[in-house]
Amino acid sequence: MNLQQYYWQQIREKVCTQCMHGDAKGNCSLSTTEECALKVYLPEIISVVANAHTDSYERQLYKLRRHVCILCDWQMPDMTCQKRTEGTCALERYYPIIIEIIKDARKKLQNAEVDSAFT
Ligand code: SF4
Ligand code: SF4
Repeated sequence: MNLQQYYWQQIREKVCTQCMHGDAKGNCSLSTTEECALKVYLPEIISVVANAHTDSYERQLYKLRRHVCILCDWQMPDMTCQKRTEGTCALERYYPIIIEIIKDARKKLQNAEVDSAFT
């Protein structure tokens, strides 16, 4: 299992199980024409959290908007987003949990506790 797969496994366990688009077992019920921003932009999200260098949630949110939402078709030129307003973007809704997942994984890596998990 590589690091990205590990992040996704953690997200399925901790986010998808409680997501409004999930089935409580970690499976996604979005239709094939819909895309989860969390899934599509996972590498960018990991990079934003890893390079945020702040514990301020507002600051992390600002960086998410600037580096991830800007890539998303739902974000309008005035930086508004219908899904954000309606609370139906899983990335926006569960971002605090996602930050913790990424930070925890990075901490474990730094402590070399997960070496064996990725060999
Ligand atoms: S929308 Fe995203 S976070 Fe929600 S269940 Fe589907 S894949 Fe998981
Ligand atoms: S909040 Fe809106 S613009 Fe940002 S990722 Fe979600 S759907 Fe896309």
